[in-house]
Amino acid sequence: MASAKILEVNLSSGSIGVRELPTELQMKHLGGSGLAAKLLYDEKTYKADPLGPDNTLVFMNGLLTGTPIPCACKTSVCAKSPLTGIWGEATMGGFFGAELKKTGYDGIVIRGTAKAPLYLLLEDDRVELKDASDLWGLDVYETCDQLCKRHGDKCQVACIGPAGERKVLISGVMTGGHQTRAAGRTGMGAVMGSKQLKAVVVRGTLQVPIKEREKLSASIREFTPIVRTNAKGLTDFGTAGGLMGVEANGDLSIRNWSLGSWEEGAAKTCGQKIAETVFVSHYGCFACPIRCGKDVRVEIGPHAGTVCHGPEYETCDGFGANLLNEDLNVICAANDLCNRLGLDTISTAGVIGWAMECYENGLITKEDTGGMEIRWGDGEVILKLVELIGHDEGFGAFLSQGVRRASSQLGGLAKEFAVETKGLEYAYHDPRAFTSMAVNYATANRGACHLEALGYFAEQGVFALSALGFDKPFERHGVENKAEIAYLMQNFMEIFNDLGLCKFLIRAKDAAGPDAIAGWITSVTGWGISGDDLMKAGERNFNLKRMYSYMLGITRKDDVLPPRLGVHDKKTGAAAGSIPHLGRMLVDYYALREWTAEGVPSQGKLEELGLLE
Ligand code: SF4
Repeated sequence: MASAKILEVNLSSGSIGVRELPTELQMKHLGGSGLAAKLLYDEKTYKADPLGPDNTLVFMNGLLTGTPIPCACKTSVCAKSPLTGIWGEATMGGFFGAELKKTGYDGIVIRGTAKAPLYLLLEDDRVELKDASDLWGLDVYETCDQLCKRHGDKCQVACIGPAGERKVLISGVMTGGHQTRAAGRTGMGAVMGSKQLKAVVVRGTLQVPIKEREKLSASIREFTPIVRTNAKGLTDFGTAGGLMGVEANGDLSIRNWSLGSWEEGAAKTCGQKIAETVFVSHYGCFACPIRCGKDVRVEIGPHAGTVCHGPEYETCDGFGANLLNEDLNVICAANDLCNRLGLDTISTAGVIGWAMECYENGLITKEDTGGMEIRWGDGEVILKLVELIGHDEGFGAFLSQGVRRASSQLGGLAKEFAVETKGLEYAYHDPRAFTSMAVNYATANRGACHLEALGYFAEQGVFALSALGFDKPFERHGVENKAEIAYLMQNFMEIFNDLGLCKFLIRAKDAAGPDAIAGWITSVTGWGISGDDLMKAGERNFNLKRMYSYMLGITRKDDVLPPRLGVHDKKTGAAAGSIPHLGRMLVDYYALREWTAEGVPSQGKLEELGLLE
């Protein structure tokens, strides 16, 4: 495999260049967010104003993105986060990454700020910056439709909506139009908006190079039936199909994380209910045999009648149980609005839940909201708030800055209701239900991200921990060996971000373990990499991202749980009484990582990982 080819664009000067990255750098950092972290760390973008011209924005394909390996579809979008002020990354599926790969480029590095709205057009080797003033103000669906009309149906578009244009801190970068896939987290939409970059359009015709095509095809033929069988629930009901099981485990956020059970509500807002009511069709990302995407009909709200991407599990909990809303139609309409406006559904629902609790306790009043009574479960209010947040208007402009800033402004009890770590709102899996998630959330590089370890999957045996050499006993609510689960899974999940693989592949258990994945890399590149090499690369990139944020002052003091999750127990449900003893687990965790007691990677560890060069 040739070295990585990166397109470099400076929006301030209009200059366009090409950079070849040496193969050795790829072997160390693979691709995706790991390779992006290497570029941004070396460039010292941690010193930049996140919304200023010096904050470099990177679209980076995974090393395997665009190959026929199942679910090899992901592109990472990385920069210093304007929401958290530290390392920021978000990953999107769909078809953008595969199309980018066919242009011959592995990534796009975007610097500077345009004087007026632009979009970037990349067609094979032809690169152009084009006027986007007629697109500015359009929503995500409209932008994709317009650009596909202009450049052909085969092009793929990644763009921002009105939220990104207005630099809303919880906005994302979206792809796929109505069948939206989102790089939602950490405010990458705001970074793109600050650069006045409305969209990136890609169209490629090159064949993706594969070193040992026959061998790879044989391996895929063997693997596909395994993952199809193990992930059948995802195929049938999407990610939201797991919602009732999550509720039964006490793992759901209910009423801004304050309640323990919600059985009837879960049955009304889950993937199975979607299948019975608003479901239209199945769809999947590039090269995906699982096809967890579900098109649904939006029945209410300003866009009733639309057929679009259905709500994922996180969205169903966020706009459902989290807000005590049992109306699936409200969830679908809120999801559609977020996708049109270019908002992260997790953070948007999180900040609305926080505001509802503040309102209930008199910390926010009708004077603050412009006359709205923001009560639990009120569907009209939920949709109105999403619109206001996305347009950064009225009371929405207060919420659009995220839970941490909004709660700091109100102070006092409002901070008790704020559920965030390092400034990122929690994804909807409760660390009191599976305590390895407490370590995961507290130490995750981008803030309260569930995907950096997927500890709740590992603890339930969805993935075979034995494939990572782990066979120790543990209890769901206990502390023993939980740090090790988080540590191993973080290193392993980092690999998926770096290779561009969907994390649902781990449902194939040890058939998707490090050795199997290393075999795929060897077939694609000819490198002869081992499973151990791969885990080392995951560890390296995880530490590199920690170092990026350490340069911004992140240490042990930031590796915390919010009071709601770390001090208060639930009174009912399967996680009743559980409080994760984070302090004990962190001692184990830092020891495993060979970090200091202050949570700083030791010189010895950095040297061993080759991060001092
Ligand atoms: S499992 Fe779902 S998210 Fe993952 S690649 Fe397939 S369709 Fe996309």
